[in-house]
Amino acid sequence: MQKFSLHTHTIGFDGRNTEAEMLARAEELGWSHIGFSNHFIVHRAIKEAPMYQYAVKGNYHNIYSSSFDEVIAKFEEHYKKIDELKKESDIKILKGMEVDFFAYPEWRENFEKARAHLKPDYLIGAAHFIEHNNTLYNSHDLKASSKAEQNQLLYRYWQNERAAAQSGLFTFMAHLDLMKKVGLGIEPEWAEEERKTIATIKNVGVLVELNTSYFKFGNEPYPGQRIMKMLAQENIPVLISDDAHAASQLGGNFAIAKEMAKNCGITRFAEIAESKENNNIRIPINMLSKNR
Ligand SMILES: [Zn+2]
Ligand SMILES: [Zn+2]
Repeated sequence: MQKFSLHTHTIGFDGRNTEAEMLARAEELGWSHIGFSNHFIVHRAIKEAPMYQYAVKGNYHNIYSSSFDEVIAKFEEHYKKIDELKKESDIKILKGMEVDFFAYPEWRENFEKARAHLKPDYLIGAAHFIEHNNTLYNSHDLKASSKAEQNQLLYRYWQNERAAAQSGLFTFMAHLDLMKKVGLGIEPEWAEEERKTIATIKNVGVLVELNTSYFKFGNEPYPGQRIMKMLAQENIPVLISDDAHAASQLGGNFAIAKEMAKNCGITRFAEIAESKENNNIRIPINMLSKNR
């Protein structure tokens, strides 16, 4: 069974355990690596997004910011904790980020600066938001929209996914069919958008995550079997991850997800390979092993 996860969240962001508690659980599981990938979500208009007031009420707004400096400061503190833990740990710890990709030019410029400063080991591409008519919508806004609007927003969603993959910033793409979380994008008509996105992903050479967190709703992982079959057809490697927001979720459903992937024809599962040149694990993109 896979002995690592690169998609995890901690306290200080929207996780429920500290870095040390997550690490202790990973040790218990006998893992070789753990990667922390807290949210990097910066958009100039995020505080005007419809969801923001709910985030404030629910007190989870701290992961959303309109200021790069603010988020950089948070990651500095978080990465400093990781550096401390690295000194004592038998398990290799990686610094990641789950990044919401936005297409406006200053975003890219500022993000590149943040990356150069923070030096993460890897980046996960995500689209929790859909930018449309100068408004940012999340999955719950989509759920509440009219059918016509939903369709428009879903098309935008898949366009965003392709733009994120195309950006070349990311090691792997998170939860491709995220919108099924609110029951959207499931109909056969969406297969065409999915196929186009898989084609882009293949062209760019980015990996796709098999995210086991959705099993908590008793369903398929992200992505579901329709997309898994497309990935198999294109021979795109998948990276299994738990998207753990608590230590107890680490490694959850890995076996069942892998079984499902194999049944869909997937034979390539990503592994971590360390670069020999410098003791750093900088490019998990060369971490492929066949049919393990
Ligand atoms: Zn996510
Ligand atoms: Zn996540």
